[in-house]
Amino acid sequence: MIFAQQPKTQAPAKAVLITTLPGSSRDKAHCLYEYRLVYRQTDAEADGCLMLWQVVGGREPYQVALERDEWRQLVWHCTCPDTIYRRDQNPRHLCKHILGLLEFVPPVERPLARAA
Ligand SMILES: [Zn+2]
Repeated sequence: MIFAQQPKTQAPAKAVLITTLPGSSRDKAHCLYEYRLVYRQTDAEADGCLMLWQVVGGREPYQVALERDEWRQLVWHCTCPDTIYRRDQNPRHLCKHILGLLEFVPPVERPLARAA
């Protein structure tokens, strides 16, 4: 999945989701993270990118996406280093940004995790 080439979409949502997640400091103290919906596919049966979220609150902003792949599997992606490096060892690994978003989004069959 390529995050740099976002699908054409409506204006970014003005509403945001806010949660606390373990921060990036050594003590992992919880801090506020903000999720802003950047894109949402309106066709529920479509393949490709279904949702794209911008996440801020840590050292860097990241993007979290939910994709329906060519095998009709739902797959979460995140651009954070945790996802990129740990997925090689555990393809089902979900980073804190994805887990934080799963607190809000409607439950679906647990999607696979895959590095960006
Ligand atoms: Zn992440």
